[in-house]
Order: sequence, then C-alpha cells, then structure tokens
Amino acid sequence: MESKNLSSCEDFSVAGSFFSPIEKKPSPPSVIVIGGGISGIAAARALTNASFKVILLESRDRIGGRVHTDYSFMCPVDMGASWLHGVCNENSLAPFIRLLGLKLYRTSGDNSILYDHDLESFALFGMDGQQVPQELVIKVGEAFEKILKETMKVRDEHLDDMSVLQAISIVLDKHPELRQEGLAYEVLQWYICRMEAWFAADVDAISLKNWDQEHVLTGGHALMVQGYNPLIEALAGDLNIRLNHRVTKIVQRCNLVIVTVEGGTNFVADAAIITVPLGVLKANLIEFEPKLPDWKLSAISDIGVGIENKVALRFSAVFWPNVEVLGVVAPISHACGYFLNLHKATGNPVLVYMAAGSFAVELEKLSDGEAVNFVMLQLKNILPHATRPAQYLVSRWGSDINSLGSYSCDLVGKPADLYERFRAPVDNLYFAGEAASIDHSGSVHGAYSSGISAAEDCQRRLQMQYGISDLLKIVFRGEMSEIIVPLQISRM
Ligand SMILES: Cc1cc2nc3c(=O)[nH]c(=O)nc-3n(C[C@H](O)[C@H](O)[C@H](O)COP(=O)(O)OP(=O)(O)OC[C@H]3O[C@@H](n4cnc5c(N)ncnc54)[C@H](O)[C@@H]3O)c2cc1C
Repeated sequence: MESKNLSSCEDFSVAGSFFSPIEKKPSPPSVIVIGGGISGIAAARALTNASFKVILLESRDRIGGRVHTDYSFMCPVDMGASWLHGVCNENSLAPFIRLLGLKLYRTSGDNSILYDHDLESFALFGMDGQQVPQELVIKVGEAFEKILKETMKVRDEHLDDMSVLQAISIVLDKHPELRQEGLAYEVLQWYICRMEAWFAADVDAISLKNWDQEHVLTGGHALMVQGYNPLIEALAGDLNIRLNHRVTKIVQRCNLVIVTVEGGTNFVADAAIITVPLGVLKANLIEFEPKLPDWKLSAISDIGVGIENKVALRFSAVFWPNVEVLGVVAPISHACGYFLNLHKATGNPVLVYMAAGSFAVELEKLSDGEAVNFVMLQLKNILPHATRPAQYLVSRWGSDINSLGSYSCDLVGKPADLYERFRAPVDNLYFAGEAASIDHSGSVHGAYSSGISAAEDCQRRLQMQYGISDLLKIVFRGEMSEIIVPLQISRM
C-alpha cells in the first residue's frame, strides 16, 4: 500500500502496494481513510470489520479531531465537542455509550429555547455584577420565543432568504410590544448570543430559511461526564492508524487512488474516504488530480464554517454559585458571556468559557495569557471574589491547520442541496464528516453516521468491482445495538 514515485498504471503492480491491479482477486479490497476524527474512525472501523484492508492517515499526533478531551487538569475537559445532542436510543452513538458505561449529565430536555440548556440551570448577571432576576430571564425568554415564531411568518412572506437578525428586526418593527428595554434588552441579546453559540456563527450570518430545519433527536442534551475521548479510543481500538501523516495530494488513476503525504510517501488503494474538515477542503490544502468537479467545489465553498472556542479554567476551589451556567448579559450579543460550570457535572472545580462567531475569531488573535485575562475580567465583574485560575487551556479551532473551523453552518441564500452534494462520491473518492451529514451536521453523532454511510457506499462499489457478491457485511452497527444496557443519565 505504501510506495514512492509512481508514474504509470504498471508501476502500481510493483510499488509495494498490498495488491496488484492485474491480479488482485486474492487480496481483499483496500481503502485509505483520510482523517482520524470520529467519522474517519467510524469508516475505518466498519471496513476493517468487513475484512477490507484499511489504513487511516491522520495529520495530527493524536486521533479524535474535533473531539479532544484534555487531561492536563487531572480531570477530563472537552475542548471540542462535549454534548451528546439527543439522549435517546436512536442516537447512533447510544449503543457505544451504553456498552462502555459512559455517564451522561443532562443539561436540557426537548425543545429548550436555549438548545442544550434549560432555563432553570442558569444564573445571569449584568455587567455590574448584579444577578438578573429569574422572572425577567423567563419573561424575556418567552418574548424571544414569540419573536422567533414571528420570524417564520417573515420567512413565508419573503421568497429570498435573509439573515435571522434581519428577520428579527422586521418582526420588532411589526410588533413593537416585543421590543425590550434596558436590562431586558441585554437579556434578549444574551438569548441571541446563545443562538449564535449553537450555530457557531453571528446572527447576521445565520440563514432564516434553514436555522430551524435541522433534525434534532429527542431526549434533550447531555454532557459526556468522562469526556468524549473514551468513545474515540474504544472505536479506534487496533485500527491501522498512521499519525503525523498529513495528506497533500489525492490522485485518481487506473481505478485506483494514490494518496501522497507530506514527505512524499504515496499510499495506493482501490478507494479513499475523505473525512478532513470542510475548512481544510475550503483552504485547498489538498490537491486533487483530476480536479474535483464544479458541483462538488461549489458545495465546499457554499457551506459555511462556524467558529466556537473554549477557555477552560481550573481553580483550586469552587467560589461560584451551584448552577450549570453563569451568564453575563451585555448591550450587544458579542459582548455577552457564558461559563459552563463543570463542577456540576463532574465534581471538578472547572469553568469553561465559550465564545462563538466573530467573537471566537477575535479570541484566537489573543495570546493564551491575554485570552485568560479577558475571560477573568468578565468573571470578576460578576463575582468580584474570583481567584486566579491554577491552570488554563485555550482552543483555536479556527486557525488550527487541522480544522480551520469548528463545524459547518448554513449561510444566507445558499441552495438546499449543498449537504447532499458535499457527501456524494466522486467515482472512488467518498466524502464523510460532520459536513457530510444531511440531518445532523455539526455534531459528533452526525459525523459518526456519515462515516458509516460512506463506508457502506464504498463497500458496495468495491464488492461489485471485485465481483464479490457477499463480502462480510458491516457488522458494527447491528452488533452493538443488540446490547441492552440503559444510558446512565443524571442531573443534580
Ligand atoms: C468547540 C467545539 C464544540 C463542539 N461541541 C459539540 C458538542 O457539544 N456536541 C456535538 O455533537 N458536536 C460538537 N462539536 C462538533 C463535533 O466536534 C464535530 O462535528 C465532529 O467531531 C467532527 O468530526 P469529523 O470526523 O467530521 O471531523 P474531525 O473530528 O475534525 O476529523 C477530521 C480529521 O482530519 C484530520 N486532518 C485534517 N487535515 C488532514 C490532512 N491534510 N491529512 C490527514 N488528516 C487531516 C484532522 O486532524 C482530524 O483528526 C463541537 C466542535 C467544536 C470545535
């Protein structure tokens, strides 16, 4: 499978690849999976279980991608994904979570206006450090719900798409009674800030047509108490993974795929599954020969990539109220703040500050120390007795060359079939990852399922090509779902 300096089709038979194209029947079909996040691992696992020859090439020195549990605080802290969206058996990850006995801490039920949180879990503070009365928070929440309902009418009345912000302003012009003043206005900005966090995009960039069109699973949202990493490790198991292998070029030739990594080594296989993040494809960090078709390129350029970042702070002791989230309200949504209290779910004295959209982009420009100082200023505003953190972590998903963004989002005025086009194969090149999930983009379970789907499609093609009518079926999904262990969910 590994070779150097390939030029003609004949070269493949002597290049050290693990099959010869002329006489390849005795050898099982081979697949290169590019990217070792959840989708790549899912695809590699499924095809390995189906007795394919699989190699997974990962650019980082670790697997997991945008699932990244850090242990330097001596406790798990997820700097990428941390919620399971949809605590139900229909969630494609549920079988593994049950099997591994991973604990979940539910932070919201179904249909919360705050997506992954319920209102009762919040303490909101003004910039002056005064706690906002809960009745006001609830009242503004109800107004926000009405505003969003009214935006649906705006959508029906307008043929062209617009941003959610534009729709909100049309609604407020029509219904001045929904306008908020003073502190209530700041609380409304905070609700908008939470919406921006869900999409990892500014409200003036979120598509009115698409913002509520995603298929959200039932059961609410829960934090993975031990972090997401145990899931990744269990799925990866004994897969053939090469870390520090950054793919730079993908060539389709002679019914084969030749993948080149930094340093010049080539890998050859019957097919490849590409799971690198959308941001990496947008930045043209991988050269394709022949070039990808226009319908694929336009999907890559038209799906948006949102940014969300985290600043995790470990303190020597807890000095904050016993709520799941501390929120800071402000006159504009970008200035609002949001601290997740991990002590509630895990018992560790850790707060995680989260920023989304252009604010998250700005945060990446600061040094770690500056970012922590900024966050501590916000914390001190609301809790003047806050102590300095003993340790901190700062994520930079937007500028990290391995991600170049946090997760995909719908931009204003883009065609509806983008995700279908993004996931569609180009001959023997298959595409997977969160942006390739039609119903659950931007999530871990969506990325997982898209990896399985790409593996199934790829398997079908290669079975036909090899004339194998009944190769081992992909057993992973079915096998695991038979295990009947309940999900372990708590809330304190
Ligand atoms: C801050 C943040 C918070 C999030 N919160 C949640 C949440 O709470 N719940 C949830 O469900 N989802 C959440 N998500 C989204 C979720 O993490 C992603 O949807 C999912 O992990 C994406 O998986 P993937 O396999 O598609 O991509 P990735 O995990 O990014 O995997 C792609 C892999 O490709 C590798 N790669 C990149 N370039 C190359 C190259 N040239 N050659 C080889 N390998 C390459 C990368 O290193 C990476 O390992 C969050 C994401 C972020 C960033």
